[in-house]
Amino acid sequence: MKICEIFYSISGEGKSVGYPTVFIRFAGCNLAELGSPCKWCDTEYSWSMDKGTEMSPKQVLEKIGKYWNCPVIITGGEPLHQKDELIKLCIALTRTSRTVEIETNGSLEPFYSLQEVTWTVDMKTPSSGNVRKNNLKILQSLRPVDQLKFVISDWSDFSWAINIIDNYNTKAPIVFSPNWNVMNKKQLVEWVMKQCPKARVSIQLHKILGAN
Ligand code: SF4
Repeated sequence: MKICEIFYSISGEGKSVGYPTVFIRFAGCNLAELGSPCKWCDTEYSWSMDKGTEMSPKQVLEKIGKYWNCPVIITGGEPLHQKDELIKLCIALTRTSRTVEIETNGSLEPFYSLQEVTWTVDMKTPSSGNVRKNNLKILQSLRPVDQLKFVISDWSDFSWAINIIDNYNTKAPIVFSPNWNVMNKKQLVEWVMKQCPKARVSIQLHKILGAN
């Protein structure tokens, strides 16, 4: 598989927030390959498969072995863009008893064959420019152990997300994350408290700390 980078940091968002975590960033993004990267993407260096390093699951395990048996978050790029390789890596990781969370962009169907693997689906809000790339069927396949995330830049994003939540009966917990330099965080908290109190607001801890 093509890997963009592997690093050890603090998990900044969602259910794993605050845990020391190994991040494995897959190279290649299907949306960027289609010529339609998200407008606010901050990992442009992950878009191309060509820039990734070829690694086997064994090599990845060796590389992360120096960290304690801490949780793993697989991110991208878009990990499902290399689905077969991703499954092989997840099998290898779960054999080491690590918890594995995969961040995906909402355009490709996750797999649920490995119970230990959970998903964070980052549905693309209108401000991303990719709202039409969302695969909304995913909303009904997500489980209570997964999470559904919306990055919010403005009211238009928030009202779109509320409409999706109201119309699709997802079992996954819902997380709203402010687009860091764009969305007023207190304003987002007010909207969530008034309009969607079953959801959580997640402020990116890694950005507060200036970490990766
Ligand atoms: S899907 Fe992720 S990696 Fe791809 S362009 Fe959007 S934010 Fe960037």
